[in-house]
Amino acid sequence: MTQGIPSREIFWNISSIGHWIIYVLLVGALACCVWFFVKRRNLWRLGSPENRSDHPMRRLLDAAAQTVSQRRVVHDPLGGFMHLLIFWGMVVLIAATAVVAANQDLHLDIAQGDVYLYLLSLAADVAGIAVICGIFIALVRRFGRRDKGLETVPEDIVVDIFLLTICMTGFFVEGLRIAGTSDPWRAWSPVGNAVAGWFETMDSGTLMAVHGGLWWFHMLLAFVFMAYFIYSKLAHVLLIPGNYFFRNRGAVSAMPFIDMEDENLETMGVGKVEEFTWKDLYDTEACIRCGRCQDNCPAHISGKDLSPKDVLQNLRARLIADSPALQLLRAADPEGSGAADAASAPADTPSAPLVGSVVSRSGLWACTTCGECLQVCPAMNEQPIKLLKMRTYQVSMESDFPAEAQATFRNMEQNGNPWGIGWQNRTKWAADLPIPTLDEIEDIDYLYWPGCSGAYDSRNQKVSRAVVKLLQSAGVRIALLGNDERCCGDAARRLGNEYLYYSLATENIANLQAHKVKKIVTQCPHCLNVLKHDYPQLGGCFEVVHHTELLASLIEQGRLKVDSKALADRCIVYHDSCYLGRYNDIYREPRDLLSAQGATLAEMKRSHADSFCCGAGGGRMWLEETEGTRINLMRTEQALETKADTIATACPFCLTMLADGSASHGDAALPVCDVAELLL
Ligand code: SF4
Ligand code: SF4
Repeated sequence: MTQGIPSREIFWNISSIGHWIIYVLLVGALACCVWFFVKRRNLWRLGSPENRSDHPMRRLLDAAAQTVSQRRVVHDPLGGFMHLLIFWGMVVLIAATAVVAANQDLHLDIAQGDVYLYLLSLAADVAGIAVICGIFIALVRRFGRRDKGLETVPEDIVVDIFLLTICMTGFFVEGLRIAGTSDPWRAWSPVGNAVAGWFETMDSGTLMAVHGGLWWFHMLLAFVFMAYFIYSKLAHVLLIPGNYFFRNRGAVSAMPFIDMEDENLETMGVGKVEEFTWKDLYDTEACIRCGRCQDNCPAHISGKDLSPKDVLQNLRARLIADSPALQLLRAADPEGSGAADAASAPADTPSAPLVGSVVSRSGLWACTTCGECLQVCPAMNEQPIKLLKMRTYQVSMESDFPAEAQATFRNMEQNGNPWGIGWQNRTKWAADLPIPTLDEIEDIDYLYWPGCSGAYDSRNQKVSRAVVKLLQSAGVRIALLGNDERCCGDAARRLGNEYLYYSLATENIANLQAHKVKKIVTQCPHCLNVLKHDYPQLGGCFEVVHHTELLASLIEQGRLKVDSKALADRCIVYHDSCYLGRYNDIYREPRDLLSAQGATLAEMKRSHADSFCCGAGGGRMWLEETEGTRINLMRTEQALETKADTIATACPFCLTMLADGSASHGDAALPVCDVAELLL
């Protein structure tokens, strides 16, 4: 230590026995952490395999950036601020303690002079205060504000008290040292200096004795905490960066590929805990029960029996409860081939269905797959996919699904559209438009894919007509697939009917490839999403764009002329479709199309990546909504609050849902239009 600057925490030499006690405590605490990971790893490995370590360096850098920036955490201002105080406070305190240890025990002399004063004295004091403030905010959130989704269990209070006591005793130890050594640099430890004032009148013998006793208490507490934290909610300090590393780097909406050609395919989806992947199981451990997903979930907010937080927590409880039997089973059948010797398999192999224990039946079908839970989760957990995997199992293996879905599935099977309107009528809407089919023309810029809504729904047919007119006026050569076009299969897949999705998708892909289609434009974000992200799993790789993207680029290129005052007298609120925004990152283009015409844009409280679902995603367009409040009515209320005079959308489902919601307001109803109609 620099001459004249006394050691920060210790002003007498610890005996060699004391050193050994500290080393033993340190090794013991680290062993507890390792033990935790070994035990937990065995649990996660009960899940099925999944590769989440491709591009390790990219993943590592990404995880480090996410952890350091705390980008996900600050989404909730108060909770985020609290977390920043505690996280960065603890980082600085741990770093300062490590430097003190390195200086004293290893004689590295890495903190000298000013570095010592700034880093160890001042920064550590500020960090200690930050942690204390953070914990007080946490307590206020739990017991004062009682944040809705935030779940408090006794273990959380223990963690708060532990941290608070460690920080407080740290300041007392520092104050006693300053008082006992008349530290000339005391001004650099403002909090310790203030505490020292309370002890100035004590004689030095008493000061040394009290300091020594409290120092050991502080250290013991710190080591016990080190051993304990990993078994508490604070384990997320290590688990969440792990989740950042292992996160899905592909399409946000990706569903697992099921090889329908596989003759050995025995099951589809997830009907047992061990059929989830290890990453699904890891997610349940990384969940810190903050409740953000639940507080923002449209299904939950509108009164459905669904909480994404509870789904993860219930799955975790099932995993822990079932694990002894599952581990025996895995020992009997290490490859998980299902060929375990019946005699060696445990008699009480878990068999309780997941639906009913992890999520209620109504909750399973209430999810709109809007992705808001994914967006707000500070742990980057992947909630909707777990529900979708369970839906696939229920439909494919149990034939258990809402009665309304039966008719939708049958209609898609027989006529290639959810309404069941004759397949031969698909192009009727365009009969009077000069748009050819691919049987009539081959040399095109884009295949125009109106989707089932754009082809069969009378309201959305107007949007299709607007899109065709706009594209053709800009000189874009487009054609239809014609009556060969089938439903893209999005609703079938998200409703769990993987086989139906497979037959629709493979037929579409075969037709598109037969016509050598390279580029597709569609006004439906659900078609866009499935054509762009799901079809490549089946070998259908196309360049797919949304009509707002193409129209915006045509305006930028000067190929499509707009009247910059056409909407100057309008105040328009644009509703972000989940599948366009959150799943495909398209926020700017629809707004650009409106502002290019001079419209004043209003924004709802929930917009862009935090948009509120219209209620139709995940196949919910085709199901009854009898529980709670209708989601489309809630979204329409949010639009009306902006006092705009028009609601704009860029999705046929959103258009239908919001038009329906707006109509329920009678005379106060607002017109609901697709941006293409407004542009035309
Ligand atoms: S995807 Fe949307 S509806 Fe489904 S659980 Fe998440 S937030 Fe709720
Ligand atoms: S899943 Fe994510 S958002 Fe939901 S409670 Fe857990 S950590 Fe919070």
